[in-house]
Amino acid sequence: MPYDPIVGIARFKGGHRWSGWPGAICLYCGCEDPEELRLAGHKAGDFECPASVLEKWRIDYKMNPEQVPEPPHDIAWDQDNYPLESSLKKLENEITSGNYHRALWAFYLALCEHANPYGICGLTKKEVRGERIKCWEYHTHGWSGNESIIACLERSYLWSLIFERYDSGGHYYFNLDHAPKELQEEMLKRIRERYR
Ligand SMILES: [Zn+2]
Repeated sequence: MPYDPIVGIARFKGGHRWSGWPGAICLYCGCEDPEELRLAGHKAGDFECPASVLEKWRIDYKMNPEQVPEPPHDIAWDQDNYPLESSLKKLENEITSGNYHRALWAFYLALCEHANPYGICGLTKKEVRGERIKCWEYHTHGWSGNESIIACLERSYLWSLIFERYDSGGHYYFNLDHAPKELQEEMLKRIRERYR
């Protein structure tokens, strides 16, 4: 199966990913084999898989986790406690790219980065829309260096998926549901090292 490291998903005819024979269905969208569709009178244009990049990535990752690319770079900070412009640019490229897996890692790992002693982050429980849930807290305390990380993350399509709650004073809360187990472990490891 050819794998596209840029898009982060496998390339398949019509964008579908077929299960084995007989009675093949698309693992992404659930539709039936194109030959059967053609025989049933569908046109070629109907054969394009309607699943989104995100949906495809989830299936690919489940089936071939070893093909997932390396976690992205860390953010570099200057001596005045501001993230380097070049770091923010790299982060923005990662979290706005179509490679969902890399974007996800970059987004969550950026939430482990903040300028000391102004910021703090970690695992917590917080009430979100009336329900107390496990989430990731990120407190900028108004420090513009930390706020610039948040401003960068807001430009990602992942923001609306992951951001849960804001309290005035620079208190942000994010859900962890989209972070795979190994990513959550990496986040906790980084925090333990930071606050040791
Ligand atoms: Zn499909």
